[in-house]
Formats: sequence, structure tokens, C-alpha cells
Amino acid sequence: MQLKNKLIPAFERAHGAGYQALFLIDNSQGHSAYGEDALVISRMNIKPGGRQARMCNGWFMQGGVKVHQPMIYPINHPDLPETPKGVKAVLMECGLWQPKLHGKCEKACKSNEDACCNKWILERQPDFAEQKSLVQETIEAAGHLCLFLLKFHCELNFIEFFWGMVKKYLCYDSEGRVSYIRDLAQGQLTNN
Ligand SMILES: [Zn+2]
Repeated sequence: MQLKNKLIPAFERAHGAGYQALFLIDNSQGHSAYGEDALVISRMNIKPGGRQARMCNGWFMQGGVKVHQPMIYPINHPDLPETPKGVKAVLMECGLWQPKLHGKCEKACKSNEDACCNKWILERQPDFAEQKSLVQETIEAAGHLCLFLLKFHCELNFIEFFWGMVKKYLCYDSEGRVSYIRDLAQGQLTNN
């Protein structure tokens, strides 16, 4: 990953020890991607095993104490050694499984306020809710800071100014001809 191998080391070389960088991150889909073992509800099944992600430990509060909760059964489990637990078992362990609700909604969950399914409940637990993107995890693990810019905001997201200028020049130079834009794009692609 360029951030880890190039950008952060370049900053640290340029400024020396003791300086903290603040990265401003454009809010694109790629930048909000999660790490391979992140707590992401869409990567889980309701039941144990099958095709589902092997995720890092979560946690929940019990009597004022933070309890670490593995998402995978231990190697000495009698039936399901080293198997991902799935939504139901994870919620049962912290006493949050709602037997009257479905495991998950057939289509996307619609509710924002009332629990529609058990998947919805787990997604809102603090360990899942605090899951950070891989970009943020990488920056913070190196001791730096990051802020995500507002999506598409024309004033508070400065890259939008550059896009705006690109579009302005393109519009001016092409005199409205689509063929000009196509040729330009093809030329750029073959040049690179
Ligand atoms: Zn639901």
C-alpha cells in the first residue's frame, strides 16, 4: 500500500522525528475500504462457517467491564474449530440475539430506528460501529492523523476546485465537441 510504504515514510524523512502529519482524505469509495479482517457485517453469515470473512476480535461491555470477543471459534472447539461464528452466535454470547426477529432482512434493511433483524442489531454494536477504514487504521497506527473530506462538497473539498477547472478548460477547448474529449482521453491513455 502506497500510503504505508511511500507517503508516510516520505513525510517522516522530510520532517524528522516528533512531527505528526494530518492527512486530508478525499471521500472516495477506495478510501473507505476496510481491512481484510475488519468487523464488517456484510461479510458475515448468520450461521457459523461457510463462505464468510475471518474477522478480528470484537468486544462488548458486561457489568462495566470490556470483554474481548473472538469472531472465530478456538482451535479446541468440539464441533467448529477455527470456524467463524456468524451473527447469531456472536449476538448470543453478548445476550443480544432476538429470537423473534429474522437473522437478516431479505433485501437491504430499511429501518434506521427500530431493529428489523439481528444483523441490524450487531451492526450497531460499538465494536462494529467504531470499525475504521484501512486508510484511517494505517495512518493512525503510524501515529498520524486524518480527516475525511465531505463528499462532493464544492467549497470544503478542495479537489473539487481542480475538477471544476479541468471541466471548464475542457469545455472551452473542445467547443462542445465530444470527439475532442474522446481523442484527448485516448491520447492520454496511449501516452501513459
Ligand atoms: Zn434488517
